[in-house]
Amino acid sequence: MQTELLPVTPESLARAGSLIRAGALVAFPTETVYGLGANALDADAVGRIFAAKGRPGDNPLIVHISAPDQLPPLIASDPSPAAKALMAACWPGPMTLIFPKSPAVPEAVTAGLSTVAVRYPGHPSARALIDAARRPIAAPSANRSGRPSPTTARHVMEDMEGRIPLILDGGPCAVGLESTVIDVTGDTPRVLRPGGVTPERIAEICGGVAVDDAVLRPLKAGERPRSPGMKYRHYAPTGALTIVRGEPDAVIDRIRRLYDDALEAGSRPLILALEGHIPAYGDRRALSLGPDAAAMAHAIFARLRDADALNADAIFSEATDATGVGLAVMNRLERAAGFHVVEV
Ligand code: AMP
Ligand code: MG
Repeated sequence: MQTELLPVTPESLARAGSLIRAGALVAFPTETVYGLGANALDADAVGRIFAAKGRPGDNPLIVHISAPDQLPPLIASDPSPAAKALMAACWPGPMTLIFPKSPAVPEAVTAGLSTVAVRYPGHPSARALIDAARRPIAAPSANRSGRPSPTTARHVMEDMEGRIPLILDGGPCAVGLESTVIDVTGDTPRVLRPGGVTPERIAEICGGVAVDDAVLRPLKAGERPRSPGMKYRHYAPTGALTIVRGEPDAVIDRIRRLYDDALEAGSRPLILALEGHIPAYGDRRALSLGPDAAAMAHAIFARLRDADALNADAIFSEATDATGVGLAVMNRLERAAGFHVVEV
């Protein structure tokens, strides 16, 4: 299959809309990461997403809508007061809510769960695609399963060329990390996957928040997480990634030694560091993650892909505090590292 890469125009949107209606897949930009979309109400089309990504069948998809009035047909009961408050404050935007599902949503979308994940994205091109398709669109991140999520159309091309007919290019994604996934089926909203909408912000809006304890630790053997996606070794580069955490001076010192040892052992090491720390690594090969946690959120997946492109086989990354958007950054980075963290 030829994969076309087109800028977002009225013509490409119309073509993308008819592809979606015909059961085909289209990759498209959102404010979080690029999505791989199919008609959410067509089980066969949804099956093609799992095939193109190599995604395990028990990992459910997020359904994207382009207006709040598209929500009721997808869910089984009225949203809770907390859900309504979150929707009013954070939609459209990088926030996904989990509701009891209506029978209209195929089991293929929810991987057999009785709940459905719904997002109303902020990116105008994402909404324009849903409008053009005149269908809700089921879409996970547009990477091959296990690879870092794509934050540019070129990343999507790397993973999906020959597997899908069309990629809409809307430039780099603003947030750079996937949406915050919040279970609103109970009284207190529970963060299942951290993202751009932080627990601090959710508590402000709802008066309370729980963060699933699987967010910052590996799962135990046989554990069934509330968010099935937590089970998989996500976001990983090919090279072995180690996170070094602690006071900045100690971190820099340790990473220098780990790098030098790796080089001496014949490896091709690479450092991922905060912008202000780059000079401290001298002529060692180091890429910047930007000046702060928000910049790291934006840069992290692209730098992990860069690490692969540079053939790095031993990657040493600095950490950030797991507060605010830093929680989401560390959730992805620790999974990418297979929880290999050195504390100094
Ligand atoms: P992706 O956008 O590809 O990174 O994947 C969607 C994420 O949403 C995965 O982590 C899923 O586990 C999660 N998700 C989707 N539907 C549900 C659901 N009904 N309950 C809990 N988590 C879900
Ligand atoms: Mg994903």
